[in-house]
Amino acid sequence: MRKIAVLTSGGDAPGMNAAVRAVTRYAISQGIEVYGVERGYTGLINNNIFQMNKRSVSDIIQRGGTILKTSRCEEFNDKSYRQIAAENLEAYGIEGLVVIGGDGSFRGAKDLYNDFGINTIGIPGTIDNDLAYTDFTLGFDTTCNTVLSAINNLRDTMTSHDRVCIIEVMGRKCGDIALFSGIGGGAESILVPELPFQVKDLIKKIKTNQRIGKTSDIIVLAEGVCKAEELKQQLKEGGVTGSIKTTTLGYIQRGGTPSMFDRLIAAEFAIRAVDLLIEGKGGRVVGIRNNQIIDDEINEALAMPRVFNKKLYDSAVLLGL
Ligand code: ADP
Repeated sequence: MRKIAVLTSGGDAPGMNAAVRAVTRYAISQGIEVYGVERGYTGLINNNIFQMNKRSVSDIIQRGGTILKTSRCEEFNDKSYRQIAAENLEAYGIEGLVVIGGDGSFRGAKDLYNDFGINTIGIPGTIDNDLAYTDFTLGFDTTCNTVLSAINNLRDTMTSHDRVCIIEVMGRKCGDIALFSGIGGGAESILVPELPFQVKDLIKKIKTNQRIGKTSDIIVLAEGVCKAEELKQQLKEGGVTGSIKTTTLGYIQRGGTPSMFDRLIAAEFAIRAVDLLIEGKGGRVVGIRNNQIIDDEINEALAMPRVFNKKLYDSAVLLGL
């Protein structure tokens, strides 16, 4: 393995830069030439491929986003475009590719490997924590800390006014951001797309909280359940009295300097990814399970069903009472 490339694809996540830096510096230290690809698969098709050195990745470990840029690339679903991408890589003599992204990006990596024999290794970079094969994805911890900081600030003002607050966080299909930051922030209620919820139960809980003298009531709502404003309307119609405030955090959750944990797994994922390429392996993804860095065959990893941590959720409910 003499030359490898690295790209970031799909939604950006804090820690992607730390991973790009680690891939680049570790591979160079092993005598491998490293190429960066701009804007994910779009750059692979358009031949936006450039050689990187150790200084190309200076001063980025602490930055959110991705210096390589990212994109969603419809064409990559089409084999003829993937062929162009493969030919571009071959023209540079690049034998291995590290793809930092979510499940969509992994499907692209899988196709490149299966159709054209390019050794691809996936690093899970997504704030959603929605990949079943790994306990944590890169960016999730930072995002939860950002949400936590918002909950802390909102708690101060809600307590001062005896208010109910609905905080809408990201997570269309996966409620982990709501669950983890809700536990960390001491939320009274956490609503996630994995579990059905009855608005009448929530109303009952809010009224009980008011009766027993709770001075604020924070509801962390994953966007996949419904919009914060819709929930507010339902609570009002259900007879919740007093002021109900809503806050939708939106893209604030995506950016920001990566946490210590995300920087650490960025380094460890990157080192395993490069080691796999050095061993001549491809069609694999790296991750962390039970505090161990692991790698799995990409098809198996993508096929693994996500299991929601119901036990943790049930405990969180008890802590919020
Ligand atoms: P993420 O990687 O964060 O899940 P997307 O789902 O948007 O983000 O996927 C990122 C990119 O991966 C897509 O724009 C496309 O270029 C590529 N991709 C997604 N699904 C496939 C697929 N089934 N086959 C080939 N490429 C895919």
